[in-house]
Amino acid sequence: MFGADAVTTRTFDSPEFRGITFHEIRARSIINRVPGASRMPFEWTVNPYRGCTHACVYCFARRTHSYLDLDTGLGFDSQIVVKVNAPELLRRQLGSRSWLGEHIAMGTNVDCYQRAEGRYRLMPGILTALRDHANPFSILTKGTLILRDLDLLVQASRVTDVGISVSVGFTDPDLWRTVEPGTPAPERRLDVVRTLGEHGIGCGVLMAPVLPFLSDDPAQLRATVRAIASSGATSVTPLVLHLRPGAREWYMAWLGHHHPHLVRRYERLYAEGAYAPKWYQRRITRQVHDLAQEYGMGPTRAGMPRRIPAPAETDPATPGTEAPEPVQLTLL
Ligand code: SF4
Repeated sequence: MFGADAVTTRTFDSPEFRGITFHEIRARSIINRVPGASRMPFEWTVNPYRGCTHACVYCFARRTHSYLDLDTGLGFDSQIVVKVNAPELLRRQLGSRSWLGEHIAMGTNVDCYQRAEGRYRLMPGILTALRDHANPFSILTKGTLILRDLDLLVQASRVTDVGISVSVGFTDPDLWRTVEPGTPAPERRLDVVRTLGEHGIGCGVLMAPVLPFLSDDPAQLRATVRAIASSGATSVTPLVLHLRPGAREWYMAWLGHHHPHLVRRYERLYAEGAYAPKWYQRRITRQVHDLAQEYGMGPTRAGMPRRIPAPAETDPATPGTEAPEPVQLTLL
């Protein structure tokens, strides 16, 4: 069912991996072409894992677990497919005559710096291969483990284009513990942004997802953007929660358990499908861009830490309704 030549199933007793099953496979191919790539900012991806122990309730990749006949709820969080031959396979594919050295995006399906990476250590081999072939790449992650590979990232950035983005949708600690239970705390993720910047690797923040009625209060948006700005992020790109099949059922069950009074409001907001209405998305984007400007974040700022003014006593943010100018639309 994994589309691979061999599967070894393992469990580990350490507290970090209790309850998690790893399916180690030898994949046949590692560079994947994105279907409908013309709508995406990238065409090629590498994903050494499937499933993600970061266990974000809203994760849009949940549905992909059903393609493997695995459960999209708890199964997605705890049944992890590991492509153990990813580094050697990538090196071989990068060296083939048919490969034209195009940009490769990582972290686009599931997080390549999830906890499993601490054990399997696939990314050092992947980064080494990319560095040796001077192949441009980008990584989107919530994993602080990326700093383990800082030296390789620096080396790669000297020979090719390297784009790193960290995902931080909000900084509310109670919300984080319940909705992203397997991830490093938002502050730790912003420490990653800061450290990368200090080493000359500018890092953007994907402010995703903004959760309607849970993290979209003007004061919450302000606190999040302020924290992002103070980390030295080169950009902030807000993205409102979307609820595709697979994620939708899991998220709504979580909402009914933790915030039952919001269920009707969500049903109304997402009545048309997977996306919140355009007016809502525009309002959030406008607010975040205004805050980003206020805190000195602009498209051309370098990724170094900067001094941030103290928080305002009052909160002047007012929801707007017009479509904002596209300030930062890097998705990776
Ligand atoms: S870190 Fe990313 S891939 Fe992993 S569960 Fe969270 S949203 Fe999904």
